[in-house]
Amino acid sequence: MMSLPEKEPMPSVIPPSSRLTGAGQDPSASLPTPQSLEPLIALAGARTRTLLESAARHFGLATPGVEIRCDLRGRGAGQVRRQAGQLWTVRYNPALLARHGEDFLARTVPHEVAHVIAFHRHGPRIEPHGTEWRAIMHLFGVPPTRCHDYDVSDLKTRNLDRFPYRCGCRSHLLTSIRHHRIQRGQRYLCRACGQALVPAVATGSD
Ligand SMILES: [Zn+2]
Ligand SMILES: [Zn+2]
Repeated sequence: MMSLPEKEPMPSVIPPSSRLTGAGQDPSASLPTPQSLEPLIALAGARTRTLLESAARHFGLATPGVEIRCDLRGRGAGQVRRQAGQLWTVRYNPALLARHGEDFLARTVPHEVAHVIAFHRHGPRIEPHGTEWRAIMHLFGVPPTRCHDYDVSDLKTRNLDRFPYRCGCRSHLLTSIRHHRIQRGQRYLCRACGQALVPAVATGSD
């Protein structure tokens, strides 16, 4: 257990040009061309919707509404967040989609869809990679690996997203680093009320 410092350090600002590729002096060198990436983005979207529909049908649920975006930077392959109401956001990392195409569609897409369905069925308090999520991965016939094994050594770790958490007294916005530690079992306590921070909305981030 660790207690949460009063203030989190402000993130440094990453220039937009380096955020696009994550590394290197020449952004165009490792940036996939729109022509090569566009069909993959379309495939990822189509596969996301197909899996969502088949899982929802399997469990007798209405298909959850999702917004699919291919704008995740950094080293994560995908991310799921719930917006207000019943709309979910599924985000994919275009750099990793471009590099791993088929494998990304075969493993990362079902991984994220399983998060949506698990949270949709069981609410935000479940373990992100717990039995509910693993059961859906089993349904998809995909091994329930928590983390991708793509080489991301050239991608920046910095992720400027903030993740909403709450305790007994207030809401907290945590960095992706703390958010990932909590997802792996670390606990953070609010200094004011002493309660453990829990996600304010359902998120799964990989
Ligand atoms: Zn508190
Ligand atoms: Zn996950």
